[in-house]
Amino acid sequence: MATKTLNGKIGVTTENIFPVIKQFLYSDHEIFLRELIANAVDATQKMKALAASGDFKGEVGDLKVSVELDENAKVLRIIDHGIGMTEEEVDKYINQIAFSSAGEFLEKYKDQIGSIIGHFGLGFYSAFMVASKVTIDTLSWKDGAKAVRWTCDGSPEYTMEESDKADRGTVITLQLDKDSEEYAAKGKIEQLLGKYCKFMPVPVVFGKKTEWKDGKSVETDEDNVINNIEPIWTKAPADLKDEDYLKFYRELYPMEEDPMFWIHLNVDYPFTLTGVLYFPKIKERMAIEKNKIQLYCNQMFVTDHVDNIVPDFLTLLHGVIDSPDIPLNVSRSYLQSDSNVKKISTYITKKVADRLEEIFKEQRDQFEQKWDNIKLFIEYGMLSDEKFRERAMNFALLKNTEGKYFSLDEYRKAIESSQTDKDGNVVYLYATNADEQYSFIEGARNMGYDVLLMDCELDSHFVNMLESKIEHTRFARVDSDSVDKLVSKGDSAEPQLSDDDKKALDELFKAALPQGNEYVVEARNLGENAAPVLITQSEFLRRYREMSSLGGGMNFYGSMPQAYNIIVNMQNPVISRIWEARGGDECKDLLHQVVDLALLSNGMLKGKDLAEFVARSEKLLR
Ligand code: ADP
Repeated sequence: MATKTLNGKIGVTTENIFPVIKQFLYSDHEIFLRELIANAVDATQKMKALAASGDFKGEVGDLKVSVELDENAKVLRIIDHGIGMTEEEVDKYINQIAFSSAGEFLEKYKDQIGSIIGHFGLGFYSAFMVASKVTIDTLSWKDGAKAVRWTCDGSPEYTMEESDKADRGTVITLQLDKDSEEYAAKGKIEQLLGKYCKFMPVPVVFGKKTEWKDGKSVETDEDNVINNIEPIWTKAPADLKDEDYLKFYRELYPMEEDPMFWIHLNVDYPFTLTGVLYFPKIKERMAIEKNKIQLYCNQMFVTDHVDNIVPDFLTLLHGVIDSPDIPLNVSRSYLQSDSNVKKISTYITKKVADRLEEIFKEQRDQFEQKWDNIKLFIEYGMLSDEKFRERAMNFALLKNTEGKYFSLDEYRKAIESSQTDKDGNVVYLYATNADEQYSFIEGARNMGYDVLLMDCELDSHFVNMLESKIEHTRFARVDSDSVDKLVSKGDSAEPQLSDDDKKALDELFKAALPQGNEYVVEARNLGENAAPVLITQSEFLRRYREMSSLGGGMNFYGSMPQAYNIIVNMQNPVISRIWEARGGDECKDLLHQVVDLALLSNGMLKGKDLAEFVARSEKLLR
């Protein structure tokens, strides 16, 4: 082809493609740097491959990629020593193919342009998002190739001429435009390199290393390589120690506490995926920052929004996933229906379950120690992902109020004989707050029952789920009834009160209870030694209330006043006295005292009521 200057028009379908590129990629201008460096890395890798196969017999030389910035002239250069391009190749890849495919792409997605992920690869042409003029100087590795200079100022017209470039490879020169001068700052480029190029597979150099000398920072002769070309996910798990995984975690998240454990992902069929996922300590769902999993494509950072690629509960994990098989240049809704993405999602879920089961089986101590910190993650997974739930039924733990851990099977076996009710249901008793429900927990333990601790924010949903998945199972909070009724073994003899007496009992106690709640007063025979009054909450109503408040909206149950059952133990001698003296004033203090004691043991006696109780107690002691 010609050695003289050649002017041409880039083969586009959309006449004014540059304004289109600028407009639609507005939010993600910065990716130009990743795209250009990715091209440079590709060209370098191809050079390595040619040398390895023997097709290229010369010296490959130093195969680094360099980024150079002239802050004053506002010029940015990306320099590689890769395969370069011949004049024909520039014409084919730059003038024709790349541009027309960008045109087609925009044409195809113009209706849903807003929903397109910002980071689809427009490749080389993304340079025009930030540059008023782009120059390519390139010399191909091929024998006899001539160096070419291609220049374009952002209009569809370009110039091609001979270049004076003497060494193999490509230099892309960007004259940054007025709107993009922010990229003419060293700090900005450093930040972008750190974000997008940290693990690229070829050394990327930006300036020289600096050191402190005589109180100021001075440049050394050493290249400042900004990337780690062999991040651990590219290595074989057998070659790695725990320390390596921890070190890498600290490299990724310098501000975080060390993770509890990790999974090394490595698959090459039916899709290619590598990565390392870490389990951070998770105590509160809200406290965990999502977007901590970084997605890479051949060591090139793509995004830290993996929401549509892994199931929601897995976004609580941290780490890196690298896969060339995740389509990157499409909209999010498309991603969800992509079959590779589905397979990847299933694979990762399975791997996570495998790993947890392995730790459960082989390092039970460790698993129990860490349980409190992974419980939320596992429960979230079990509630939101059917497949994960099926697996996790084998290793999910229940913790009782004494701090002992059981698998679901172990627990059932442990309580089956004493906690099966007359209908054949095994009743799982639980407390949500070991301090507030202390007296109920003690009561249940004295009956020989075991009480679980369910104090996690997802537990009310979790309890519902277990009830529906494990046959003949009922969960009851320890304070949902008097202990004899929690695991109902048969009809116990109830006090026989006339309707008038029932009404009198109701009025008597309601008058002594704090305003603002709903109460149902009920007479029971709990034995002489049991407490005079118990305050319980219906399991059903309480659970619905909790779930509606978790759901966020104030629906019917959420907006109802709190409802309590007031169980009056007619066999308690103090109650007998109060009951016999009803109507008169002599037992008024006593009545208030037994009601307050019940409120107190439920943590419900507060403020003025509490002060009155203290004063009354002192009076009664005199
Ligand atoms: P993509 O990289 O997605 O193929 P680009 O528009 O980025 O699209 O680049 C088009 C083509 O131009 C590349 O496939 C490659 O053949 C060629 N190319 C781009 N940059 C370089 C480079 N630095 N060295 C060699 N060839 C390059």
